Amino acid sequence: MRELQTFYIGGRWLPSRSARTHAMVDPSTEQVTGSVSLGDAGDVDAAVAAAQAAFPGWSETDPAERMALIGRMQAIYSARSEEMAKAISDEMGAPMELARTRQAPAPLRHMTNFLEAMKHVELIRPLGSHAPGDRILLEPIGVVGLITPWNWPMSQVALKVVPALLAGCAMVLKPSEYAPLSSALLAEIIDEAGAPPGVFNLVHGDGATGARLVEHPEVTMISFTGSTRAGQSVLLGAAPGFKRVALELGGKGANLVFADADDQAVERGVRQCFLNSGQSCNAPTRMLVERSVYARAVERARAVAEETTVGPSGSEGGHIGPVVNARQYAQIQALIEAGIGEGARLVAGGCGRPAGFNSGYFVKPTVFADVAGHMRIAREEIFGPVLSIMAFEDEEDAVRIANDTPYGLTNYVQSGDGDRRNRLARRLRSGMVEMNGQPRGAGSPFGGVRHSGGAREGGTWGLEEFMVVKSVSGWG
Ligand code: NAD
Repeated sequence: MRELQTFYIGGRWLPSRSARTHAMVDPSTEQVTGSVSLGDAGDVDAAVAAAQAAFPGWSETDPAERMALIGRMQAIYSARSEEMAKAISDEMGAPMELARTRQAPAPLRHMTNFLEAMKHVELIRPLGSHAPGDRILLEPIGVVGLITPWNWPMSQVALKVVPALLAGCAMVLKPSEYAPLSSALLAEIIDEAGAPPGVFNLVHGDGATGARLVEHPEVTMISFTGSTRAGQSVLLGAAPGFKRVALELGGKGANLVFADADDQAVERGVRQCFLNSGQSCNAPTRMLVERSVYARAVERARAVAEETTVGPSGSEGGHIGPVVNARQYAQIQALIEAGIGEGARLVAGGCGRPAGFNSGYFVKPTVFADVAGHMRIAREEIFGPVLSIMAFEDEEDAVRIANDTPYGLTNYVQSGDGDRRNRLARRLRSGMVEMNGQPRGAGSPFGGVRHSGGAREGGTWGLEEFMVVKSVSGWG
């Protein structure tokens, strides 16, 4: 049993003041494996006070000093990456292979990219030759509250902690109550790397803990990644204090597959939808296929779903794991039932656990075809390994269907026609468009529009989120 009863505040591990706890449950077995304390207002206040005390000194450090801290963190993190993979796998159910190859290494990549971006951010820049005495200063925004989800737990945390440290902010991290182990380990790494006490603070907790952080008068910015529902309440909670709010929320990405797409396009799309057991905000969960190749694409998707194996998080191999918890499992089952009830054609998978599983939050890799735009499985974020396939007639029709969602995180295009890809990249309403399986490059900004939130994480954009612009005249 693992009991996490302390929070990292002011450079020390302090006991929680709260009696509330959350049971940690292994998603593969449904067995309780420990508990984590849920911080109350007193814990949050202590962490914010520590950050407030550390901010003046940290904000005035030479940027090179902050970069050196990230460099040391990177070395320590690297040495402990297997431990990190195990923590992530244990807490949210990612199979070890995924945890080792994708989940745990992501922060190392983010650190490299942010260090590179930091070299190019001009913290003091001239306005232009017409105003020789003017300077634009980029300054750290202050004490920031960072609230993160469980699905890519360390990646999400690193996308906030690393740029906030580099910008010169002091911070309080409140990770998901479903993913406390990885953040506790990160706190140890930051401590070992020698961050000054109070610059980074960690308070475990749930929505109520997060809400206290959001409302705290001394917090000047909240960077939040999570559901659209909670994002809305963060926005409302931050409004009375006029805080900057950076939101990374849900998605319902469309993947437009044209008749001239490459042979791997459908398989790639299905696998990407099922990656991390479908628990990615940027998953391509709606596959829109040109009518002339629709039947073939549906058959290919069925084959890929049937080839996809499901297994426990602790066992080795390229299978997908369980989903994170009982609530997510029930929600996914309800949406699969809704798909069947609303008349979509079930092509693979369906309700209940895959054969051979009597417990654990395991979901059958599921494909629906003939999905109509009004159905819940076309509109709602399912957050499980469930793909909805729809046909389109032409480019215009594809754009109409793709944009028929309040979300706008990532859309995908598969087509051999470069002019068409360029047109679609502009017409699709989302913060990101990925085409022909080409991953976006290092340092490109991650973020959405509308109900997906408007923050930009990564690269220079992700750094500047944590800075304020000061406009100065009469510079000497
Ligand atoms: P969630 O909204 O339930 O929780 C996210 C975090 O917010 C947790 O730390 C939680 O304790 C906290 N929280 C919950 N209610 C709160 C409130 N009222 N005030 C303050 N904090 C609160 O989301 P989740 O289930 O942990 O994560 C899944 C969601 O995250 C999905 O919708 C997914 O799309 C989204 N997500 C988005 C991105 C992105 O970058 N756009 C990345 C990953 C996940």
